[in-house]
Amino acid sequence: MAPETSTDALVAAGVRTYVPNYAPKPVVFDHGEGSRLWDIDGREYIDLGTGISVNSFGHRHPDLVAAVTAQAGRLLHVSNLYYVESTVRLAQELVDSTFAERVFFCNSGAEANEAAIKIVRKRASEADRGPEEREIITFEGSFHGRTLATVTATAQPKYQEGFEPLPGGFTYCPFNDPEAIEAAISDRTCAVMLEPVQGEGGVTPARQGFLRHVQDLCRRHDALLVLDEIQSGMGRSGKFFAHEWERGIEPDVVTMAKALAGGLPMGAVLVGARAADALSAGTHGSTFGGNPVAAAAARVAVGLAGSSDLLANVVRQGDAFRMFLNRIDSELGLFADVRGRGLLIGAELGEAYAGKAGALVDACADEGVIVLVAGPSVLRLLPPLNISDEDVSEATQRMERAFRAFAAS
Ligand SMILES: *Cc1c(COP(=O)(O)O)cnc(C)c1O
Repeated sequence: MAPETSTDALVAAGVRTYVPNYAPKPVVFDHGEGSRLWDIDGREYIDLGTGISVNSFGHRHPDLVAAVTAQAGRLLHVSNLYYVESTVRLAQELVDSTFAERVFFCNSGAEANEAAIKIVRKRASEADRGPEEREIITFEGSFHGRTLATVTATAQPKYQEGFEPLPGGFTYCPFNDPEAIEAAISDRTCAVMLEPVQGEGGVTPARQGFLRHVQDLCRRHDALLVLDEIQSGMGRSGKFFAHEWERGIEPDVVTMAKALAGGLPMGAVLVGARAADALSAGTHGSTFGGNPVAAAAARVAVGLAGSSDLLANVVRQGDAFRMFLNRIDSELGLFADVRGRGLLIGAELGEAYAGKAGALVDACADEGVIVLVAGPSVLRLLPPLNISDEDVSEATQRMERAFRAFAAS
């Protein structure tokens, strides 16, 4: 007898067999197309979560499907003991189109940040700086990943509790506070690492001038500027990298993942001149890093993310969503703040609804819209970057019904 494939049966099997570190909704997805998703019961949703900013070009994008299919028909994997064309081409394209002189490929955001941490420390060690002089400064409210080093870089106790002892060498500063970073940085600092828009921590953009200030301090102390663009990059903000919104920013290291391969697992560390040669042969590696199928997808995704039409759509639709949120707020009084950049959008619930972002997500799902939270009190939207006017209009109508039901309950 074939195993039962009903939603109830699959959810029950997942609840019984997965390590309980996630708390998934009792929904089983079957397929998608553009901004839409369908579950196995045939229910349709508009996807404003994009698998946490991974499916940034929509589901089943024909160019992504074609590239993945073609590469899968030739080779799935070769390892980094050899070259393969799709990976070499991707590296070339990233180097040609960004500040980077070299690229390291891995499989996730945490791995990209982990590699960045190793790169900045190795560079300091090459300059005869001892372990005490390889301190890395990160910011309160940040999110850099779940491995032990990246969860330590993540300056939020809720992600760290119970996993002590944590690796040393990290110092935390309040975000967007120019005096605090000035006081914290010293010649013992080997790098400052930050998100141009804090994502998981509540969708908080760096204030105009803050990145520049951090960069100036880094240069003064021979520390590297590491930007975590895992969520904010790949066109999400309306520019290829969110740091391009501020003039004169020249990072030393930028980490990427999430949308990089449009839905397949891939991370990358882009390194500029100061750090390009820090990792000599044998000092770091990843068996799957630069996987040819992921690289084939990433070549398509990077091309899409760099197109001026797409970036213009991000700015326009981002404004449309923010206008909608502000309009509905002026009537229902749900939010204390609506913020973000491009299609990385956060709406912080007001005092009366503090801690209720999860309930708002459920109300939206009931109306057929998938949205996310960023912490207990911030609603987060990460729509597809190529979302159409029709889908924005339909999504905002559905959200309006959901917000009214939420406010009434
Ligand atoms: C998601 C995220 C990470 C971690 O990426 P994983 O692929 O989950 O390891 C790191 N930094 C930022 C800014 C992120 O949004």
